[in-house]
Amino acid sequence: MSMPTPPDTYRALRVTQDGERRRAELQTLPLSALPDGDVLIAVSYSSLNYKDGLAVTGQGILRSVPMTPGIDLAGTVLEDRSGIHAPGDAVILTGWGIGERQDGGYATHARAEAGWLVRQPAGTDAVWAMSVGTAGFTAMLAVMALEDAGVRPGDGEVLVTGAAGGVGSTAIALLSAAGFTVTASTGRSGEEAYLRELGASTIIPREELPAMKRPLEKERWSGVVDSVGGETLAGAYASTRTHGALVVCGIAGGTGLNTTVFPLILRGVSLLGIDSVTCPQPRREAAWARLARDLPASRLASVTRTHGLSEVTALAPQILAGQVRGRTVIDVN
Ligand code: NDP
Repeated sequence: MSMPTPPDTYRALRVTQDGERRRAELQTLPLSALPDGDVLIAVSYSSLNYKDGLAVTGQGILRSVPMTPGIDLAGTVLEDRSGIHAPGDAVILTGWGIGERQDGGYATHARAEAGWLVRQPAGTDAVWAMSVGTAGFTAMLAVMALEDAGVRPGDGEVLVTGAAGGVGSTAIALLSAAGFTVTASTGRSGEEAYLRELGASTIIPREELPAMKRPLEKERWSGVVDSVGGETLAGAYASTRTHGALVVCGIAGGTGLNTTVFPLILRGVSLLGIDSVTCPQPRREAAWARLARDLPASRLASVTRTHGLSEVTALAPQILAGQVRGRTVIDVN
């Protein structure tokens, strides 16, 4: 198969400084404007994550501007100076600072380090990969962390907060595929049918967890996957069962954690963190292999919408407002 030769220019959504404000606009740039990196990738799809919402609306996540946001991409290798990847290889890149510290996936082309890429698992495609994206990858890391901490199906309810969001939706699907009994905490009562279809057996309103103010509440959760933080996390932590575990993923509801050490020292609860950006490569590959097994495209269909690159500026405020359901794939071409 002959590979397309690299073009002279590429198209990207760029965040630029406009006086006091940052703004996002589509630009055509010379290929030489791409950052350093051994691998040149023809990007086919990216995705929309909470962090991308922050970047596109100019809220501080980009280390410098002008910059191309997009913390995820999937595409085809055009050239690799390291020789690790062959032209034509289908690859996935999430994290490692793309779309934050260097140009990311909201572009037709990208450059990256060879060691950052994960080969597209057999039997999957770029749309599937971006339907998973950083949010689904993070959910997979969270489920693996719960399992490593000894939480098993049959131990009792596992709580997922921010349930209708990207991390939450994919965590429910993954936990239910692994045989866990899932309780979903959501602020969107209208999404109950969607959450049950994903595999949640119980739905609780968003207000229930912040109302748990005592250091030790009645024991309920064997495990927790939290993408909300703040008072929601504090309530979940106070009601985690003896020797249960909480995996902290996100800050959609707040960055604070006002609580006590009692669940740690009187119940042996484990409070665990996830950083999908710097996740070491062997664990990345294990996570993507398991995603391919447990979250096939058919399971993701109800979770995913696809939009064009020109729609990203309108979608960004919506994900920050908690109005986007599940996952959003971005067709960059
Ligand atoms: P989404 O916006 O898709 O999901 C967040 C969900 O949180 C919303 O859908 C909503 O769920 C809930 N939510 C939103 N606002 C509030 C609020 N004010 N109070 C309580 N709940 C709220 O984002 P993602 O799933 O992409 O990301 C979720 C979080 O995880 C973000 O903070 C993100 O930065 C973080 N993250 C962290 C990663 C890591 O490596 N640690 C990687 C990926 C994401 P509902 O409507 O069901 O209540």
